[in-house]
Amino acid sequence: MKRAAIGTGASVANWDERFLALAEHVAHWSKDPSTQTGAVIVDANRRVVSLGYNGFARGVDDTPERLNDRETKYKMIVHCERNAILFASGNTAGSTLYTWPFMSCAPCAAMIIQAGVIRCVAPQNDNPRWAPDFLLSKEMFKEAGVELVLTDPVLANDWLIPMNVGEHG
Ligand SMILES: [Zn+2]
Repeated sequence: MKRAAIGTGASVANWDERFLALAEHVAHWSKDPSTQTGAVIVDANRRVVSLGYNGFARGVDDTPERLNDRETKYKMIVHCERNAILFASGNTAGSTLYTWPFMSCAPCAAMIIQAGVIRCVAPQNDNPRWAPDFLLSKEMFKEAGVELVLTDPVLANDWLIPMNVGEHG
């Protein structure tokens, strides 16, 4: 029986796909009604160090009133990568961070750099709403020497352009 190459044979891209798929899975644990994001941190041996999704701080009530009021929500919510970094308890030096469905915002990028993450992998996303922020993150990663890998765009979230429109019509 032919076995799938795991470890020596599997390409980096293959592992990136697996961990991005895990980040996607974790994103669905979020209670945010509009944007669900997930993060996975793995160490140099590809062991999962931490997981995170976007949500309110532990013990803070995630009521529909708060979740459905964007302004309030943005002030209260902890982004997925910040949760992942916090729960990793300092074990993030030299790690790779996977985020889904898009790369990190600039404030998170700063924390990622300070946490010692050396590589970030996320799907490419061209949403104009986030473009200036992503540009800033890219600049910061470049200056700080964090490798950024953007994979093919994914179909996700309410605001993404549905690329398969017409295919099933
Ligand atoms: Zn962020």
